[in-house]
Amino acid sequence: MDFEDNAQEAAFRAEVRAWLDQNAKPRARREAGDPLDERYDASAMQRAREWQKIKAEKGYARVTWPKGMGGIGGTPMQSIIFGQEESKYDVPAGSPFAIGLGMCIPTVMTYCGDEVKQRYVKPAVEGSEIWCQLFSEPAGGSDVAALKTRAVKDGDTWTINGSKIWTTGAQFSDYGLLLTRTDPNVPKHKGLTMFHLSMKAPGVDVRPIKQASGASGFNEIFFTDVKIPDSQRVGEVGQGWQVALTTLMHERLAVGGGQGGGLDVPQLLQLARSLELEDGPAIKNAAVREKIADWYVRSAGLKYTTLRTMTALSRGQ
Ligand SMILES: Cc1cc2nc3c(=O)[nH]c(=O)nc-3n(C[C@H](O)[C@H](O)[C@H](O)COP(=O)(O)OP(=O)(O)OC[C@H]3O[C@@H](n4cnc5c(N)ncnc54)[C@H](O)[C@@H]3O)c2cc1C
Repeated sequence: MDFEDNAQEAAFRAEVRAWLDQNAKPRARREAGDPLDERYDASAMQRAREWQKIKAEKGYARVTWPKGMGGIGGTPMQSIIFGQEESKYDVPAGSPFAIGLGMCIPTVMTYCGDEVKQRYVKPAVEGSEIWCQLFSEPAGGSDVAALKTRAVKDGDTWTINGSKIWTTGAQFSDYGLLLTRTDPNVPKHKGLTMFHLSMKAPGVDVRPIKQASGASGFNEIFFTDVKIPDSQRVGEVGQGWQVALTTLMHERLAVGGGQGGGLDVPQLLQLARSLELEDGPAIKNAAVREKIADWYVRSAGLKYTTLRTMTALSRGQ
């Protein structure tokens, strides 16, 4: 594992810091919590959109994407460096754009023609349009290819019926990437087709799921006779599984290329010191101490796994 920046990485980090100093204020401490919940009210969403637009103008919204598309044509390592530095500033934490830019739009860029790309990439990268990923179903969670949402073609129009679940951020999404079953008579991986659609289309019903925390990060979506033109197909008919794998490969990098080690130890210790249990302060309680130690070890494991990934990326692997 290599903990140090090489010369180019150090130069890029300095460049990013200088830009962040000009455009944002340093953060006092990192906020914890689920970024994609109902706390994304109108004003928080507005703030997130404004910050996204500022980044897109500089090419920092998607560092690895080409110039003119919200990026600078940078390396994955530069993208990670930007994320590390950005997390030290008081800018919207997490991002309602992560799924669209991390997974849906890269899939659209891989499979769709220029006209579609011209229409959707820029508004997504600038934060004016949000996307969600419509794969999981009550009957097809881990086994995505078992999904049942049907798409039936008549002329140039597909009719969609079925439901999805666990769709992150659908309640504020404009568009979705939708995996459907178009042929139930072939082996399950061969009968799937991908589409993109407007989440405001007639027949699309989005219902937020209330979590035990009180937040709503996920949704159930019901499709009743939703009409989609064939021009909104992503990839060939019956090739939906291959298209879905493209999305999931991007998801791996979007999720796994993060910061790692999300546990804020000083903040946690402070909480344990200030919290009184029946037998005294929580910090003195053996079970609490054991739990904190366990979290610390897990967090360190995550942090060094991420650093190992970063070392590999830095070496061009
Ligand atoms: C934070 C988060 C965000 C998500 N966002 C989205 C989203 O935006 N869009 C979307 O489409 N989905 C999303 N999902 C859903 C996710 O991708 C999975 O589809 C879902 O979590 C797994 O499906 P399930 O809940 O039906 O579990 P199940 O598939 O029922 O699995 C339950 C348990 O059984 C185990 N299991 C399943 N099959 C087998 C087997 N054959 N052998 C042994 N063990 C098995 C699993 O490992 C698991 O422990 C999200 C999930 C999370 C946690």
